[in-house]
Amino acid sequence: MTHSLVAMSYIVATILFILSLSGLSNQESARKGNYYGMLGMAIAIAATTLSAAVSAYALLIVGLLVGGSIGARAALKVEMTQMPELVAIMHSLVGMAAVLVGYANFMDNTVVIDGVEKTIHELEIYLGILIGAVTFSGSVIAFCKLSERISGKPMLLPGRHWFNLFLLIASIVLAGFFLQQTENGSGLIPLSIMTFVALVFGVHMVMAIGGADMPVVVSMLNSYSGWAAAATGFMLSNDLLIVTGALVGSSGAILSYIMCRAMNRHFLSVIAGGFGTASGGETMAIEGEIQPIDAEETAQLLKAAKNIMIIPGYGMAVAQAQHTVNEITKLLRGKGKKVRFGIHPVAGRMPGHMNVLLAEAKVPYDIVYEMDEINDDFTNVDVSIVIGANDIVNPSALNDPNSPIAGMPVLECWKGETTIVLKRSMASGYAGVGNPLFVLDNTRMLFGDANTTMQAVLKALKE
Ligand code: NDP
Repeated sequence: MTHSLVAMSYIVATILFILSLSGLSNQESARKGNYYGMLGMAIAIAATTLSAAVSAYALLIVGLLVGGSIGARAALKVEMTQMPELVAIMHSLVGMAAVLVGYANFMDNTVVIDGVEKTIHELEIYLGILIGAVTFSGSVIAFCKLSERISGKPMLLPGRHWFNLFLLIASIVLAGFFLQQTENGSGLIPLSIMTFVALVFGVHMVMAIGGADMPVVVSMLNSYSGWAAAATGFMLSNDLLIVTGALVGSSGAILSYIMCRAMNRHFLSVIAGGFGTASGGETMAIEGEIQPIDAEETAQLLKAAKNIMIIPGYGMAVAQAQHTVNEITKLLRGKGKKVRFGIHPVAGRMPGHMNVLLAEAKVPYDIVYEMDEINDDFTNVDVSIVIGANDIVNPSALNDPNSPIAGMPVLECWKGETTIVLKRSMASGYAGVGNPLFVLDNTRMLFGDANTTMQAVLKALKE
């Protein structure tokens, strides 16, 4: 393939990636956005493969087949609830690729450059490996936390900020050694020590982050993986990889900012770790009796209500209750009731998790509201149904300064007339904190798997 044809294909792929991102910013156009992204990636892979030397084709085809089938198998097998873990482990692969490409570049004797160009090339290698290693180890820990292989509780080492500062200074000093020593080929030693330091930093950074702050980490690692890809692009002199990496890096950074704002957190405090746990005070005791309710009584309350709010959370994803919820919504709207969905920005386990589920069940977009749009309206709501949500409706975020989720805005459903909470037990949510909502006078608990109970409610509504 000629150089100009490759360049042309890369420009087309870049335009498709930009169209993809803009499509993904809106639910109605998200499907089209995905198609643009797939087409862009197909063009990018084809152009890159065909631009390689013919002798490398066999190797590339084997690589494509092995990688493609592992990816296809993972995508077919993964449950919707495991999606965040899959995303985290994919980020780790991008980080690992950046590290491996960096070392391959460093050891490549065929590149003959000197002077400023050489220094720039070495800096690219150093930064690529640094960002790649942090992304790799951080994403592996995020994967373990999200899949509950390790506890979501923050690991707070004494003097952790000093430790982070030490790792940062060590990376800068090692960069100096590396740049000086590549002349005589001994740069491998500072490079290897820096890789170890970066791996430790990635582990420490994510281990120190508490459960409720994980959404910011997920989007931040998404951003890092983009920068790692961009660094790989610089090392390989591949323009498309640089542009694509920068697109992913900057959109991930914007998402992290949006997440922080939604959770009322400062980005730096989240990254420094242990946010909200430093006060050391006792959290408020939860006192009161829970009031259970059954499916028939729930249906009666819904029949009598005019204004209904549905608040989905992670449990709806686990129960796969979205289709039953949509059936109930259609039935209630058919009876002339106002039914709306209230979506918290960190509901579920990944950004946009609930929107994806509701879109899959074909819930109309115009009755799905963001938290900011409906939080002031709960005083007009007759019945709120909380489906497998917990942290996002926890009043202690607003009235207990010692709570690990203190300061995070939540959906204030308790201001409505009645709240019905669907969950299986009294277990806490991802942040591991008790929820006083469950014992309020106007709360009723509907215990059981959310899909089973929603089906029972649907049956009772039809009778
Ligand atoms: P939570 O994790 O707070 O609560 C989910 C609740 O669902 C649990 O209390 C559980 O209770 C219940 N549940 C689980 N399975 C079922 C089922 N089959 N049927 C009925 N109920 C079920 O979820 P939220 O959505 O309220 O909050 C999200 C949390 O996850 C926040 O802390 C957020 O910070 C964090 N997070 C979010 C990410 C994101 O990007 N959105 C990423 C990483 C973390 P029980 O076991 O009793 O049934």
